[in-house]
Amino acid sequence: MGGASTKLNAGIRGERPPTEQGVFVTQQQHSHRPWRQLHVITIGLLALSMLFGGAVPAIALEHVRFVRDGVERHVSGEAVVKAQDGGMMLRAADGVLWLLDGEEIKEVRSDEQPFRHATADEIAKSLREELGAEFSMHGTAHYLIVYNTSEAYARWCGALYERLFRAFQAYWKGKGVELSEPSGPLVALVFDSRRTYSAFAKRDLGVDPGGMIGYYNVRTNRVNMYDLTEAGAHSAQQIRQMLMRPLAERNVATIIHEATHQLAYSTGLQTRYADNPFWVSEGLAVYFETPDLRSTKGWRGIGAVNQFQFAQFRQYAPRRIDNSLQRLLTDDGAFRNGGTQADMYSEAWALNYFLLKRHPDQYSQYLAKLAARTPLITLSAEQRLADFTESFGPLPQVDQEFARFMATVR
Ligand SMILES: [Zn+2]
Repeated sequence: MGGASTKLNAGIRGERPPTEQGVFVTQQQHSHRPWRQLHVITIGLLALSMLFGGAVPAIALEHVRFVRDGVERHVSGEAVVKAQDGGMMLRAADGVLWLLDGEEIKEVRSDEQPFRHATADEIAKSLREELGAEFSMHGTAHYLIVYNTSEAYARWCGALYERLFRAFQAYWKGKGVELSEPSGPLVALVFDSRRTYSAFAKRDLGVDPGGMIGYYNVRTNRVNMYDLTEAGAHSAQQIRQMLMRPLAERNVATIIHEATHQLAYSTGLQTRYADNPFWVSEGLAVYFETPDLRSTKGWRGIGAVNQFQFAQFRQYAPRRIDNSLQRLLTDDGAFRNGGTQADMYSEAWALNYFLLKRHPDQYSQYLAKLAARTPLITLSAEQRLADFTESFGPLPQVDQEFARFMATVR
C-alpha cells in the first residue's frame, strides 16, 4: 500500500434535499471517465505555481489539440500536472480543469504567454453561447450568477453568496489563515426549474441528478442549482418568505454547502483533485452550511452548532463502532453508502466542530498540508492516518477527547 496510486477523484459533490427519512443524502460521481492510462505522474514545474498560490510565475501556455469521442477539440491553458504518457491536467482560462489522456492528445504547442484568468465578461459571453441567449448575467464583487429565472432570485443568490464569502474570509482570518483571492469570478448557474436544471446536469455530469437540488462540480469549479421557488417569487420579500419556511431550511443549507465547496477550492484552502478526505471536504461544508437568512449584513451562523447534524450525531454516538474515527478518516466510500452516510456526515461535522473549537492551529496546519499536495495523487489509508496523527496526536487519545467534548455540546 506504500506507493502513491492515482485516480481521478470523484468529481462532483452534490447534495439531495432531505428524503422522507430525513436523511441528508450526498452523491459522489465521476464527472469524467477515470484516467486509467495514468500510472506514474511527473509533476510539471507549472504545477508548483498552482500549488503555491502563484508564487512561481507560469512560464508558458499550452495549446492542445485532442480528439475525444471522435470530435477534434482545442483547449489552451496552463499545465497543472503532467503525466509520463503525455497526458496532462490543464487549467483553462475559465478555471475549468481538463483531464487529457496521452492517447487523446494529437498536438501540443507551447508559447511564452503568461496564464491569465478570463474576465467575468468573457466567461459570460462563452456561457451564453453554450447555454442560450435566454440566460442573463448578474455580477457581484466576487460572483457571476448566470440565470434564466427571475432577476430577483439571481440577486438574492448573489447577495447570499457575497455574505457567505465575507463571512468565510473573516472566519479564516480569525483563525490566522490568510486565504487568497479567487483568480476569477466564482460562477453559479441558476436554472428556472428543476426540469431545465436536470437537463443541464445530465450533460454536465453525464448522469441524471435525481433528487440533488444543487451540486458543485470540482472540474468546472461551478455551482449549479435551480430556483427553489421555481420562478414563483418576483420580489426579495417573497423569496425570503418562501425560503424561511422551516421545510426550506435544508434546501437553503444545500446551496450554501455547495458554495462553501467552491469557496474552499477557490481561495487556496483546498486544492482541486488533491487527496481531500471526505471528512474534511464534507465536514467543512456542513460546518459552514448553517443558514442565517434573517440578517442582511454579516453572517451569524458560522461556527454555530449545525442542529441537523448534531441531532444525527447524538443518535449515532451510543452506537459508534470501535474504529469509527479510523473509518471516518480513511473510508470515503462509507460517505456514499446509504447505510452509513448519515452517520458519516454527522461524525464529520462533529469532528470538524471539535477540532475547529479546540485545536484550531493544528487544524489550519493540517489543511495547509493537504492543500500543498499534488493533484491526482491518492494517498493510502496509512498515509492519511499518519497525516492526521502528525497534526493531532494518537487516534485513541483524540477519540477520547472528542467524545468528552461532544458530550458537552448543546
Ligand atoms: Zn458536499
